Amino acid sequence: MAIKNVIFDMDGVMYVGRTAVPGAAETVAYLRGKGVNVFFLTNNAEKMREEFTQKLNSFGIEAKDGEVYSSGYGAARYVKETYPGKTVFAFSNGTKAEMQRQGIELDLSGKAQVVVAGLDLQINYEKLVAAFRAIMGGAEFIATNEDMAFPVEDGLKPGAGLIVAGLAASTGRKPVNVGKPEPYLLDIILKEHGLSKEETLMVGDRLETDILMAKREGVKSMLVLSGVSCEKDAKEKGLIPDYIVESVAEIPKMGII
Ligand SMILES: [Mg+2]
Repeated sequence: MAIKNVIFDMDGVMYVGRTAVPGAAETVAYLRGKGVNVFFLTNNAEKMREEFTQKLNSFGIEAKDGEVYSSGYGAARYVKETYPGKTVFAFSNGTKAEMQRQGIELDLSGKAQVVVAGLDLQINYEKLVAAFRAIMGGAEFIATNEDMAFPVEDGLKPGAGLIVAGLAASTGRKPVNVGKPEPYLLDIILKEHGLSKEETLMVGDRLETDILMAKREGVKSMLVLSGVSCEKDAKEKGLIPDYIVESVAEIPKMGII
């Protein structure tokens, strides 16, 4: 069946650190020119949705606010649906802002009823103490994602998994993950925009999140080698995507869209 919807992961796919992946803007323009619906789905919860839109736009990549989905936004939607009226401890400013936008009250004192753990570039011990105490006091424990690393220009940096796994180990509790590879955000995109799984392609650089989620959900998958995972990993992990390409720059030349 023809591909009518393409969902791009962002880190390692559209850009690496502060550098755009060559050809990313041209590929997005090509797809839009073909009438394909384009969306962006990131496990990054450090920023608000519109800040990710601005980042894409700064690289010349056409994106509109309603097309960009982040795990911080997903966590806020999840808390609002699942734990209405409960107070939340969240880490990064982006996640906190997404919570407030959904009308959720923050409590950073260590007495919150829900802890949303994720990557925070301003992490410090006081924040970890507050999250730890809230969880030990019985708070619900949610992760924006559990990614152990993300790519930057000169290698990898530790991701949300550093903080989530630390809290899980110290509290003995296991979080509910709303980020990839869980299908929560993908389901929101498919439902909100009325997309069929058969006509949807997920493009990502990470096998154990992007590609695993696509396979679990029954959408098509494409691994790009411009980020974390390499071709050898796909065979070793038994996660074979429908397509493997060097980068998104190859999409217009493939003849699949
Ligand atoms: Mg990525």
